[in-house]
Amino acid sequence: MHEFAVANQIYQSSLETAIHHKAAKILEIKVELGDFTLVVEELLIFSFNVLKKQSPIIEEAELYITRSPGEILCNDCKKTSEIWFNEEQEISEENADELDLFTQKVHQSKDLRLMSVNLFKCRHCNSRNTDLLSGKDIVVKNIKVQD
Ligand SMILES: [Zn+2]
Repeated sequence: MHEFAVANQIYQSSLETAIHHKAAKILEIKVELGDFTLVVEELLIFSFNVLKKQSPIIEEAELYITRSPGEILCNDCKKTSEIWFNEEQEISEENADELDLFTQKVHQSKDLRLMSVNLFKCRHCNSRNTDLLSGKDIVVKNIKVQD
């Protein structure tokens, strides 16, 4: 239940923000989701809608999600590239097993800190000697409240 954990994170931090600002109700929550969190949006929204019933402050809030790409740093040419998970699946056929392993790791890990995987291909020199710099961030960008 990876999505449930992420939804809970969004729920908690939004509620804390609302309470801190003495807001009566949260109407909208805008979240930017790193593409490499591998979160299924429908499941995230479903989980959030279950959670939000716990608090009258947040029960009417709508969740809006935008995706942000991952960024890798190449250890060979020292350049960074933007990557999306779907593209990686398409170009990584020979690396399908490693990509599966990566997917499992993301789903198992409780914290979403960076992992060194040497899996993603540099867009400049095609090296796989790369580190994932970002792409697992869950950022609450904006909360619309009713005072
Ligand atoms: Zn490179």
